[in-house]
Amino acid sequence: MTRINNFIAGEWVLPSSGEFVNSINPARISDIVTRYPLSAKADVDRAVAAAREAFPVWRDLPAPRRAEILYRAAELLQRAKPELAKSVTREMGKVYSEGLGDIQEAVDMAYYMAGEGRRLVGETVPCELPHKDGKSLRVPHGVFALITPWNFPVAIPVWKIFASLICGNTAVFKPSSDSPYCAALLVEILEEAGLPAGVLNLVMGRGQHVGQYLATHPGVDGISFTGSCAVGEALAQQAAALHRPIAMEMGGKNAILILKDADLDLALHGVLWGAFGTTGQRCTAASRIILEQAVYDRFLNRLVEAAGSLRLGDGLLPETDVGPLINKQGLDKALDYIKIGQEEGAELLCGGLRAAEGGLAEGYFMQPAVFANVQPNMRIAQEEIFGPVVAVMPCADYEDGIRLVNQSRYGLSSSIYTNNVNYAARAERDIDSGLVYINASTIGAEIQLPFGGFKHSGSGHPEAGGRMGAIDFFSRIKVIYRDFSGRLQKAQIDQESQ
Ligand code: NAD
Repeated sequence: MTRINNFIAGEWVLPSSGEFVNSINPARISDIVTRYPLSAKADVDRAVAAAREAFPVWRDLPAPRRAEILYRAAELLQRAKPELAKSVTREMGKVYSEGLGDIQEAVDMAYYMAGEGRRLVGETVPCELPHKDGKSLRVPHGVFALITPWNFPVAIPVWKIFASLICGNTAVFKPSSDSPYCAALLVEILEEAGLPAGVLNLVMGRGQHVGQYLATHPGVDGISFTGSCAVGEALAQQAAALHRPIAMEMGGKNAILILKDADLDLALHGVLWGAFGTTGQRCTAASRIILEQAVYDRFLNRLVEAAGSLRLGDGLLPETDVGPLINKQGLDKALDYIKIGQEEGAELLCGGLRAAEGGLAEGYFMQPAVFANVQPNMRIAQEEIFGPVVAVMPCADYEDGIRLVNQSRYGLSSSIYTNNVNYAARAERDIDSGLVYINASTIGAEIQLPFGGFKHSGSGHPEAGGRMGAIDFFSRIKVIYRDFSGRLQKAQIDQESQ
């Protein structure tokens, strides 16, 4: 077991409180991954001050030079990928192949955002007056608070860190208390890549204290948050009062619609991967399955059989399909929803119990659950469970299916399985979510396109995706007019009168 510190102004420093807490392996809770700092306000103050001090120098470093550091980070991440992926699995439980995917996404993002260092374009346009020109420039905001969840403990932080830094901002990174070790490993890589002191600072601790204080700190110029709706929406109100830009990516209640003409084998793989991959703990996890009546029984039987045969276990074991839930609260919440679904009258066809056989009681494991005959207004069809639980509903036809897909306060990711090109094309238009997959599951976004949710899933400032996504949020536009006529020229005033 190791102990990690905060990283402020280029140094790994003790928290001012002197207090540390355990980060544990959710597959085996006696395994303490690390002890991380329980930081206090003074630590946030120091981190913000360090970021403020570093800002002018970082801003003035040409963006292609900033990019070189990201290229080096990409190479270091690539080299350390197996070890980092093991740490991801050990600290948050996802299976090793998904841990590798987490790191690969970081590698991809580092290269992609490094490329943006030579593409931070503004525009030049003709001016209406002679001997005058005008242009728009992308400039950084200043210091960003970057607040992240645990389910992609490396990938989500790098979405924010690399995009904010390439634009010339400095940052204070507050990771989830369930993945501090992965956060520290990531920051070590950036340190090794040559990031100057103070450009990125890491402060660990409780969200309600450290995260809250950081987001509203007077020395912070913008916030990028990924996490639950409850926290994100409260932060958005505070940010509005402070007149501070905030980007929020939040929860989902993602649906897969399967029409009767679909390739059902393909759809079954998509449902299993979408619903039970990462133990259902993805913002884009499929948690509602909407089946056209003609294939309802046939598909449901196959789904129940397949869900029941998934192997639970430590994600580092090659035979494991589904790892543990993140912690006791996560497990209890998912188990509570099993009770809620039964009380609401849905039919539990498999799973839904805490798994205890063969040593699984040492971790937070739950058998994948399938509910059938779910009504669209039931809580299990409307609320984010964030566990291995799916709600299956019938629909009469395409129109009814789309109505059900859209009947949600969330709008992050949706999918349709159909071999009818007209329905596939209509779904692109009709589905009300930020991501739409055709003949693929609800998960699998690629970093070169924007990623963000509609409705209560997001704030409308997508992550990733270059200039149409994160770069737009992490930079602001400054307009420069230059008059080289040597006389007073008045725009929009009749030329004749000048
Ligand atoms: P969470 O909201 O509990 O925590 C997210 C982060 O916010 C953590 O770092 C936490 O410490 C911090 N935090 C908590 N309270 C805070 C406060 N009052 N002020 C400031 N910061 C605070 O979420 P979680 O359990 O870590 O993650 C799961 C949630 O994240 C799910 O709802 C999931 O859908 C969502 N998520 C969304 C996306 C997306 O891109 N849309 C991606 C991953 C996860």
